[in-house]
Amino acid sequence: MKKIFFLDRDGVINKEIGYLHEIKKFEFIDGIIDALLFIQSKGFEIVIITNQSGIGRGIYSLDKFLELNSWMLSYLASKKINILEVFYCSHSPSDNCICRKPKPGLFLNAKDKYDICMEQSWSVGDKETDIQAAKSAGIKNTILVRSGHEIDEKNSKAKYIIEILSEIKNLRI
Ligand SMILES: [Zn+2]
Repeated sequence: MKKIFFLDRDGVINKEIGYLHEIKKFEFIDGIIDALLFIQSKGFEIVIITNQSGIGRGIYSLDKFLELNSWMLSYLASKKINILEVFYCSHSPSDNCICRKPKPGLFLNAKDKYDICMEQSWSVGDKETDIQAAKSAGIKNTILVRSGHEIDEKNSKAKYIIEILSEIKNLRI
């Protein structure tokens, strides 16, 4: 069975600027490449789980998202980082879909597609809704990072709260 590190994208991998869809505005968070290499070296595969309601809201097209996505994946591949798959929700909140986080739909899609041990997997997000979605999908190992949206640390259900993903090296994973 696969052990997966589920990562949110905006605010975890790249800087959160709100409805990011242009390659030229995409900026990796400091130390992310080393952090992802470290995660791979511990025997995990990486899956990205991202809400992209900008598509459903008509702010950018699915094609724009996919273009940025393939650019990001090729860049990461050039650094020896392999992303198993990017699962995204393109709906707007009013669509009431089953995949937009905090709902666990995207995590469950990943679990249906790959043989994943949720017990040994981890999930990282910059919003409490990321943590809720992961927990609802049966993931107990959750990390909230301070590198994206403002977070309410006192009321967080995350197992760990760290500054940025590169601090993963200090945790027992
Ligand atoms: Zn959705």
